[in-house]
Order: sequence, then C-alpha cells, then structure tokens
Amino acid sequence: MFKELPRRRALDLLIRPTRVEVSERALWHNVRWVKQQIGGAGLLAVVKANAYGHGAVHVARVLEREGVAMLGVALVEEGLELRNAGVRAPILVMGGSYEGGYELMVQHELTPTLFRFEHLEGLSRAAAKLGIRARAHLKVDTGMARLGVQLSELTDFLRALTAAQTHVELDGFMSHFASADDPGNPSTEEQLRRYGQALTAVRAHGFSPRWRHVANTAGVLSGMGLPPQTDVNLVRPGILLLGVAPASWLSAKAPLEPVLSWKTGVTHLKTIEPGTAVSYGGTWVAQRRTLLATLPVGYADGFGRSFSNRGSVLIRGQRAPVVGRVTMDMSLVDVTDVPGAALHDEVVLLGAQGGLRLAAEELAALSDTIPYEIMCGIGARVPRVLVG
Ligand SMILES: *Cc1c(COP(=O)(O)O)cnc(C)c1O
Repeated sequence: MFKELPRRRALDLLIRPTRVEVSERALWHNVRWVKQQIGGAGLLAVVKANAYGHGAVHVARVLEREGVAMLGVALVEEGLELRNAGVRAPILVMGGSYEGGYELMVQHELTPTLFRFEHLEGLSRAAAKLGIRARAHLKVDTGMARLGVQLSELTDFLRALTAAQTHVELDGFMSHFASADDPGNPSTEEQLRRYGQALTAVRAHGFSPRWRHVANTAGVLSGMGLPPQTDVNLVRPGILLLGVAPASWLSAKAPLEPVLSWKTGVTHLKTIEPGTAVSYGGTWVAQRRTLLATLPVGYADGFGRSFSNRGSVLIRGQRAPVVGRVTMDMSLVDVTDVPGAALHDEVVLLGAQGGLRLAAEELAALSDTIPYEIMCGIGARVPRVLVG
C-alpha cells in the first residue's frame, strides 16, 4: 500500500549523498565583518535567487537573528516564500512588481521598488483598498540602464508620488552600480554624481526617505559602500555575506569565509583496463589500469558539462580529475592516485577538504562564467542543509 511521505519535500530526504551544506558559522562571520565595516549604517542582505542557491529560508532566518535592517529579493514570489516561512524582517522587492503583485505585497508587508508610473498606481490602489499607507523605495537609473526612473522623467515621477502620498510613503531612495568591480572605471563616480543630483530633487519635493542606498558587494569592497560626500545610509550586499568576492582583486579586501559546501559520495567504484573508453562519446580513454569512481551528480544538479575532462573534485584530502563527459545525473572521476579511495567516501565538489579548497571562482573559470552563476546553478533537486 502507498504510504505517505513525511511532511517535507521528497527531494530533501537526503537518500542520495549529494547535498549543499550551508555553514551558519561562516554566515555569522561574514555578517559581523560587514557590520564592522559599515559602522552605524544599515545592512540590507540580498537573498534573491534562493540566496544564490544556498536556500533562502534558512539563510534569511539566520540573517534575521543577526538583526539585519532588511532583506532584499528580486521577485514578489521570493518575498512571499520568506513570509510563508515566518520571516518577519522588512523585505524589499528590488525587481519592481507586475500586475497582480501589489495587493499581495501590501498584505504581506513586502516593500516594493517603484520606477514606473504603473507601479505607483498599482501600489496606491492596493493600499487604498486595504485602507493603509504602504512603504516603497524609489529607484533611479544613474547609469546601469536596467531599472529605475530616468533623470529626465524624475520631476514628473516625484509629482505623481506627491499626489499619491495618502497611500504611499517614500521610505527609501536607491540606485545600482554597474561597474563597481572595475577599479578604474569612471562610471562609478558619474553614477554617484547623478545619485546625489536625484536625491536633491527628491528632497526638494519634500520627501525625506529613511533609507538611501546604492552599493552591492563590489561597491562595499571597493570602498564605495558609504562613499564620502554622498548621502548613503544602507548597503546592499549579497554574495559578500556568502563569503565570495565578485572579482579576484576584491577577495583580498575582506577575510571572507565561504558559506557553501557542495558534497557528494562515491556510489560505485571499479577498476578498468587500459584502453577502456569512459562515458558518452568515449572522450577519455584509460592509459593505465584505472580506479574509476562514479559520483551521483551531473549537469542536472548544476555540475556543468563544461567540467568534462577539465574539472576536479576532492576525495580523501586529494584532488581527483573528472574524466569523460559529465552526464545529466552522474560524473566519473579517476581515483587511481588517491590511496585508500573507497565506496561511500565523501567527495567535495565545491568547498574544503583536508587542507585543500575548491573555490567557486575555480569552477566558474572552467565554465567561463562568474561564481554567482555557479552557485545559482546548483540544481533544485540538491537538498540544502544548514550546519552549525
Ligand atoms: C543582486 C543585487 C544586489 C547584490 O549584489 P551582490 O553583487 O551579490 O552584492 C544588490 N542590489 C541589487 C539591486 C541587486 O539586484
């Protein structure tokens, strides 16, 4: 007879050894370091995209306990997921909203980011219907050209905001750096100049937003988090809190501890003879008697096909190369040179083992991408486990 599963996501059952471990201690360490850097300013912790693949709910709970001023998500849906899990901290929905999202945002106290007249209308209508005054942040485009009110339309937007004041309270003013990870790029200074100009206009219209912010991780690490002569009182890092720097020159700026470890185990082990071709297409052929381990992790889990014949893993404190093509659910590694390699050995795909570390930057280089994409790309079927 069919017996019902325990009341949790079946994919979180940890039957397969492949998992992501999220270190609560490392997260604390990084949050405290950032807080020291910013003195009395506020910390908005960005936890969009499932906290960059780390698991938004447990990460947000730790951050909430650490007393961050606010959490940031990209989507209304992500904010609702956190509210459903009991997270009470203020949440800023940074990606703007869409038709249908405003009432949910107002009901669940999610703070929208406004940059289109429709946003303002949608929010006013929802707040009026529920008989409340909703808080919002105004976003201006100072040079990223992605989201934000353009400076040329700012005056009109501020007039509309004034007209909507019964139901909308301007609680924040923000913009976003485009190239803060590039030290010599003059666009950052130019963005700050426009930011200042726009904020002056906001104040001239009688608004005094409690929060003023512009910097992501790259901004914080390059010293532009709270730039001199600029009215900023909140920073908005994401990847920094997870212990990863957005560019290698920035990693020397902070004693970060990576929060994420990605692990699996050896689930099949055998000796193959010289001349044996391995995996789809036989792109790797054993040149010697080879001890070959099968790992239950593949590109469907985010272990990229670009790691085929190029990547490596850690086993018994040693590196072992990925051989042959990475497949959807499985990968193969040559463990001939790992003394004592055995079935069920723990294997580290990303993180530390023994004295060695496989960094997100290294995996990113293999895939010609950035650490963000590696972490966000870890598949939904990999359980995320918080460890103390
Ligand atoms: C993603 C994001 C951040 C955080 O970026 P990091 O590089 O991870 O610090 C901050 N602000 C906005 C608007 C974002 O979209």
